[in-house]
Amino acid sequence: MISVVIPVYNEEKNLPLLMDRLEGALRTLGRPYEVVFIDDGSRDGSLEILKNFVGRNGVRVVELTRNYGQHSAIMSGFSVVRGSIVVTLDADLQNPPEEIPGLVRAMEEGNFEVVGTVRQLRRDSVFRTVPSRIVNAMTRKITGVRMTDWGCMMRAYRREVVDRMVESQEYSTFIPALATLYAKRMTEIPVGHAERHAGVSNYNLSRLLNLQFDLLTSFSEFPLKVLLYLGGALAAGGVSLALLLVVMRLFYGAAWGGNGIFTLFAILFFFVGVLFFALGIMGQYIGRIYHEVRKRPRFTIRKVHGE
Ligand code: UDP
Ligand code: MG
Repeated sequence: MISVVIPVYNEEKNLPLLMDRLEGALRTLGRPYEVVFIDDGSRDGSLEILKNFVGRNGVRVVELTRNYGQHSAIMSGFSVVRGSIVVTLDADLQNPPEEIPGLVRAMEEGNFEVVGTVRQLRRDSVFRTVPSRIVNAMTRKITGVRMTDWGCMMRAYRREVVDRMVESQEYSTFIPALATLYAKRMTEIPVGHAERHAGVSNYNLSRLLNLQFDLLTSFSEFPLKVLLYLGGALAAGGVSLALLLVVMRLFYGAAWGGNGIFTLFAILFFFVGVLFFALGIMGQYIGRIYHEVRKRPRFTIRKVHGE
């Protein structure tokens, strides 16, 4: 059985077309399937529309109590899936549902545990594609997995991998990267990409940055180490500079040192800047540690509609 998991946040204008195209694509698979929609606390009519889908072949709707964010929403869907292969995709029709059979085929033919995707001719603004390049490079470095495109949520996972992710109980999660912790055989295939069918993106700069820090802090202590080394090197540099100033002053008199006052300011500002940067990164980690120790649930399901 194939499970399709789709997080939905204010997508009322996209849902009817999505459902039709999904059913068309899934029927060509010629085997049992289920579609698990997660209503991530939508403020528009999405939940009502989703509830009306219940009763159509294999549709279930997980109603969350509020907006938890895309990745937590997907995780809540993962907690109720029944299929042996789980496919995730976006509700705004940026990921063509017609690609699902291809994903499933790639997974079974190569006996893979995770099938990622590379968006061909990506239809997003440069404000999304340029940061995305940086993120992809960073994620490759952090996870050590050579996947090209981490941002595309149209992916397929084996059920075992999904179950392990659900068990992990991590609060700040970036699902495509988390999956690499629990899977060995991974591949990626090219898929199409479309512009958003209706509505606007739910991500603004701050949410994107937040996701990025989730990824960074949950997979690597590298930034903390860089800080340590950088801090050590800077401090050593500062001490040598002070020594140099003392020596120069002895040889050339006070005037020499006095003229350097603005240089000192520059150096001071630089150090202060580095300190704030360091504190900022620490803050990101501490904030997330705080989240983890509070042990709040990643999501709360109000009700699962449809059986
Ligand atoms: N989404 C969600 N909860 C959120 C934000 C987004 O479930 O808080 C869903 C949204 O409905 C869509 C998917 O996540 O199905 C991707 O969101 P969006 O299209 O806004 O992001 P973008 O494509 O711009 O990265
Ligand atoms: Mg989108």
